[in-house]
Amino acid sequence: MRVPLSRPDIGPLERRYVDDAITGGWISGSGGYVKRFEEAVQARLARSHAVAMSSGTQSLEILLQALGVGRDDEVVVPALTFAAPAAAVASSGALPVLADITEETWTIDPAAVASLITPKTKAIIAVDVMGHPCDYQALEALGIPIIEDAAEAHGSRYRGTLTGKFGVASAFSFHANKAITTGEGGCVVTDDTELAEKVRLISNHGMSASRPYHHDVVGRNGRMTNLSAAVGLGQMERWEDLITGRFRTGTLYESHLPSAGLTSRPVADWAFVTPWLYTVLLTGRDRAVTALRDAGIDARAVWPAISDLPIYKAGVRRPCPVASYISARAMWLPTWSAMGEEVICEVARHLRPVIEQVQHS
Ligand SMILES: *Cc1c(COP(=O)(O)O)cnc(C)c1O
Repeated sequence: MRVPLSRPDIGPLERRYVDDAITGGWISGSGGYVKRFEEAVQARLARSHAVAMSSGTQSLEILLQALGVGRDDEVVVPALTFAAPAAAVASSGALPVLADITEETWTIDPAAVASLITPKTKAIIAVDVMGHPCDYQALEALGIPIIEDAAEAHGSRYRGTLTGKFGVASAFSFHANKAITTGEGGCVVTDDTELAEKVRLISNHGMSASRPYHHDVVGRNGRMTNLSAAVGLGQMERWEDLITGRFRTGTLYESHLPSAGLTSRPVADWAFVTPWLYTVLLTGRDRAVTALRDAGIDARAVWPAISDLPIYKAGVRRPCPVASYISARAMWLPTWSAMGEEVICEVARHLRPVIEQVQHS
């Protein structure tokens, strides 16, 4: 049995919308589906504005530009995350300063952030890593603007509130391996009208709405296509199914994986986590990844800590031991919303002997 890491769930509804977009001739960055998709995202997350983007990374880069972050500034980012937030900060000209994560949540440690704040600190990018929300009360108490990166956290909750509602603005990704997908895509959501307008302006070449080809700011093209938005609208309308399905996959893993020799990622009692990729922590991680891959199962070691990547070492002001520790021991198991129990059993069947071997060696 070949098992991919993830499998997008695109149904007849998305096909119908894409077909309609093509028939209507609106296929690029303006068109009815972009607007309907933005309305669906904005309504779901209870934010005042949503601006669809070509990717999660563009969402972060444009947000940083809109907030005026640039040369000689610093932005604190977690030491364990997909690298896009650190790269977005570096692309702005600012320095990504790396803060360690907590053992209890694997998200950015508010105490570590506090120790890294300087007069140059312009923002914190709080990443809801692998679906786990950050400790927003503790982060907000620091008084630095927060950008929430909820790219991996569709459907997760912090103290009952859906992620995407924290900080001055939140960025989402709709890449194929995220819980809600548009192929490639992203979105900025915010309650700040001025910020939303600025984000939209930058993403649309910085072009004045009233004077064609007059550019008010240095712009980019960060727009989502109407085709992607057609897929996205279908996905947003199937939100409950897709999110519940992923949660169910996590629960099935919990019941089929061995209880000794491995633990699933920790979840704080104030957090509700919709698994992005189901994540486990074990000794002998690399052996387990190899065994699964030999069996045709696309399990993966998690990212190296950003703090251990040479290109980001200028931002390592304090050691980030927890990020390095988790990075060396955690792995992702194949995860998607409509994953059958037999597939989960197959993954568990191949994982069990490796764990037993490690325990007895
Ligand atoms: C996937 C991801 C991104 C980047 O999103 P793209 O749509 O792939 O550009 C940013 N941040 C995090 C935490 C991610 O997981």
